[in-house]
Amino acid sequence: MASRGKKFLDSLRDGRNVWIDDERVENLPEHPAFSGTLDTIGGLFDLLDDPKRRDNIGFAVPGREAYAHSSFLVPYSQEDLAKRSQAFDYWAQETNGVMSRLSDYARSLVTGWYGSRKQLGKLARGIESKIAAYYEHARDSDAFLTTSLLDPQIDRSKGLDDDRIADRYLHVVRETEEGIIVSGAKMIATGAPYTHDFLIFSFYRLESKYSKHAHALIVPANSKGLHIVCRESFADNRGADHPLSARYDEMDAVLLFDEVLIPWERVLLYGDADAVWKLRSHLSSNTLAFHQTVVRFVAKLEFIAGVTFAIAESIGVNGFLHIQEKLGELITQIDTMKALLIASETKAKADPATGLWIPESSFIDTARSLGTKLYPRAIEIMQQVGGGGFIQTPSSLSQFGGPIGELLNRYFEGASLNAESKVQLFKLAWDLIGSPLGSRHELYERFYAGDPVRGLANQYLSADKTQWTDRVWQLLQKSRTQRSGAIS
Ligand SMILES: Cc1cc2nc3c(=O)[nH]c(=O)nc-3n(C[C@H](O)[C@H](O)[C@H](O)COP(=O)(O)OP(=O)(O)OC[C@H]3O[C@@H](n4cnc5c(N)ncnc54)[C@H](O)[C@@H]3O)c2cc1C
Repeated sequence: MASRGKKFLDSLRDGRNVWIDDERVENLPEHPAFSGTLDTIGGLFDLLDDPKRRDNIGFAVPGREAYAHSSFLVPYSQEDLAKRSQAFDYWAQETNGVMSRLSDYARSLVTGWYGSRKQLGKLARGIESKIAAYYEHARDSDAFLTTSLLDPQIDRSKGLDDDRIADRYLHVVRETEEGIIVSGAKMIATGAPYTHDFLIFSFYRLESKYSKHAHALIVPANSKGLHIVCRESFADNRGADHPLSARYDEMDAVLLFDEVLIPWERVLLYGDADAVWKLRSHLSSNTLAFHQTVVRFVAKLEFIAGVTFAIAESIGVNGFLHIQEKLGELITQIDTMKALLIASETKAKADPATGLWIPESSFIDTARSLGTKLYPRAIEIMQQVGGGGFIQTPSSLSQFGGPIGELLNRYFEGASLNAESKVQLFKLAWDLIGSPLGSRHELYERFYAGDPVRGLANQYLSADKTQWTDRVWQLLQKSRTQRSGAIS
């Protein structure tokens, strides 16, 4: 019987339109832009077949002789939440936090919808059974999922009243008996070329007059008329020189819909901007998904710190005070994120509306907002610690076995490492700070959670400010009373 990883890879030869350079990719798992990454994902899927390891990432589906990934586990207790957290952490540790869209995020959204389906059932007729059917299908088929929520960057100063914008943002063209026909674009979808289904809805709240643009859809990647337009590949198959680019390039793509039929069973909401916003901002589902992003981010900070510490030791700068200060800062980053994660899990409680056991969302939101600032700072620290060393590397590690190998061994050696190991370490670091993959990661951490400016502003807007302002007014009131008392 084929392993889960193999089944996943085989399932991608399903007629989807994946475009890269001038090519429509016929055989995704064999294509050099995707093969290393897909090999990694296939390996992660295989863990669920491994009796010794599967409990770390999966659960036995009640009533079925099957294991599913724990992102599909509907949490009703602290133990369930811990099991989900453990699974996120396991995949994140396996990939050093560098792979962020392994579908456990989008799967968690679907799981949240499923656990809240009775409540969400009020949003539209049929949505409850559609969510239930889709959740079971996705869980039982190991479906790989991703989200694509933003609209193309055409002219952000204009909105849907502008015809050019309205025509290019994803909208309903007409209804048929089988479903709705949609055209327009969505961006960005990380993992798009190898996803099975896209979760599509609007990231921002729409006014009710824009009903043609208001929808929540689950779109199969091989839908006729759907074009997955990839960015340039950052995959570099020289694994020894580019260890991360060789295995972890999660492809980002823009989705172009050219009169795509979305069958009714995959149309969760349509034509009702208010209902779409209620689904989009649904606290329990979002928090279950956002929880994964924080677990993954802790693993990445640990990895960045590990690489930076090794660099500092390798060139003997770890004894200098200002370097130690910066290395200490990396530890405070890890501890801050871990503390927020632990706090969110410790303060988890049942959502009274759904019964779902949900981490405390304010800590999760803070971690995500803070992450947009911590990651660029961590990268900056790595640059400061390594200086020009990132560029002082021969183009290929294989040169150590070549005609100038002896000279390389002499001049590239480090304080505590032989030349070859030191060059290998700096090449790994370059894949984090300087390669196209590394630059993409900095952009990703700044923006993946949405525009960070509006993210922080929303934290302010949605917080209960009275818990802090009440005290101020009470103090002022008290001091006024005391003063008038003193005067009388
Ligand atoms: C590498 C990468 C991977 C991603 N993967 C995914 C994914 O898998 N799924 C997904 O759904 N999304 C994904 N995203 C998209 C991400 O959600 C968006 O990039 C993010 O929401 C910001 O939107 P934008 O890129 O359209 O920037 P814009 O909204 O166009 O913002 C650009 C700049 O203009 C400012 N600005 C724009 N409009 C306004 C306004 N009205 N008021 C004030 N300031 C404004 C912003 O503050 C920002 O500084 C990914 C992004 C990146 C970079």
